[in-house]
Amino acid sequence: KRNVLIIGAGGVAHVVAHKCAQNNALLGNIHIASRTLAKCQAIIDSIEDKGSMQQPGQLKAHALDAMDVEATKFLIRATRSQIVINVGSPFLNMSVLAACIDTGAAYLDTAIHEDPAKVCETPPWYANYEWKRREACKDARVTAVLGVGFDPGVVNAYARYAVDHCFDQVESIDIIDINAGSHGRYFATNFDPEINFREFTSTVWSWEDNAWKANAMFEHRKEWDLPVVGKSAAYLTGHDELHSMSQTLGVPNIRFWMGFGEHYINVFNVLKNLGLLSEKPVRTARGQEVVPLEVVKAVLPDPASLAPNYTGKTCIGDLIKGTRNGQAREVLLYNVCDHEACYREVGSQAISYTAGVPAVAAAMLIADGTWDIGEMANVEELDPLPFIQLMNGMGLPTRIRDAAGDRLLDPEREVG
Ligand code: NDP
Repeated sequence: KRNVLIIGAGGVAHVVAHKCAQNNALLGNIHIASRTLAKCQAIIDSIEDKGSMQQPGQLKAHALDAMDVEATKFLIRATRSQIVINVGSPFLNMSVLAACIDTGAAYLDTAIHEDPAKVCETPPWYANYEWKRREACKDARVTAVLGVGFDPGVVNAYARYAVDHCFDQVESIDIIDINAGSHGRYFATNFDPEINFREFTSTVWSWEDNAWKANAMFEHRKEWDLPVVGKSAAYLTGHDELHSMSQTLGVPNIRFWMGFGEHYINVFNVLKNLGLLSEKPVRTARGQEVVPLEVVKAVLPDPASLAPNYTGKTCIGDLIKGTRNGQAREVLLYNVCDHEACYREVGSQAISYTAGVPAVAAAMLIADGTWDIGEMANVEELDPLPFIQLMNGMGLPTRIRDAAGDRLLDPEREVG
């Protein structure tokens, strides 16, 4: 499969486009489509500035409202794109997926579908949207890989790798996401503020003893000791990957922990308590209807604009506990990513980088046939070995820490 259509022109799309360009011998022509044509063009300009293209090839910007299924189908056909990487807002997933099913193009995204009118979904969330199109994908022989960013995405592959190759029985998986970087602004979110806040204003679902457990945000705090970033406080948070991994892996306890500083929590609580994170419209004294969350988004820094001054590192990984040969075992599979190195390479910060690189690795595995399965899958349902191997050479190396020490993971060698 060749020729890629990237939907969206935000921070993650910027990384996806650069990495596609770096691998265009395999991926073919690259098209970027978003509502704002100028944003697509700016990405193309930055690819040209950095000389990111592996070989001469087509790189083109398009204006598109991806909620319009017919317009999206038209563009997929007109550009002869066989792979669509949806890194626009998660409100677009079901429309873009429908366009892929109708045209036969492979579909990839990095976040679960969201309905703008709902902040909380009954778990497993995927069953409310994407999984309803499973049969349609199968009938049309369309490959759809859901949630293939870092988390969800790489952390799902780590979980699968651990279940298959490191343990006889897995008791718990704790996914830990720490951004120890600093952007130097008073307050900012690292990706779309609207999506970011929605993640933390709803019920925190976790998977405990093979059942869903509801918690409140910032209810459970834990300090983790992680490589490079050191001791870091993280809070139990609801997250996409729990909604699939709980159903696919047969592991009784799966939790997600996100690191937050005191300052972030204070500002977040003030905004929330004032009602400024609400997605419900309010009427101003002048009779205008506004959505508070959209106003907050409009005044906060654009996440992509944080990149030039971002310093420090991220550490994201899975801490897995279980047994091997009758002995208790603990393994940490993780990646450390440096904000400044990402900026030097592609002009982005590490949050966008860690989300965008896996999506391109997945596209490459579809292009060469390895992951071109002709049906819908979450990442943990696919073979993690080629994925981890490929990312080791694409700027997202995987490390393993266990009783034997801390080392780069060579997934082929460490099998068994
Ligand atoms: P941004 O907000 O920076 O970008 C979103 C883009 O989507 C914008 O370019 C916007 O276009 C475009 N868009 C929105 N609506 C439409 C539409 N109707 N038609 C066409 N384009 C549209 O987000 P990010 O780049 O930070 O994030 C992108 C995705 O990646 C999100 O789904 C996010 O949740 C996910 N993500 C996943 C991570 C992971 O590890 N799995 C980590 C970080 C993010 P315009 O600007 O022109 O209006």
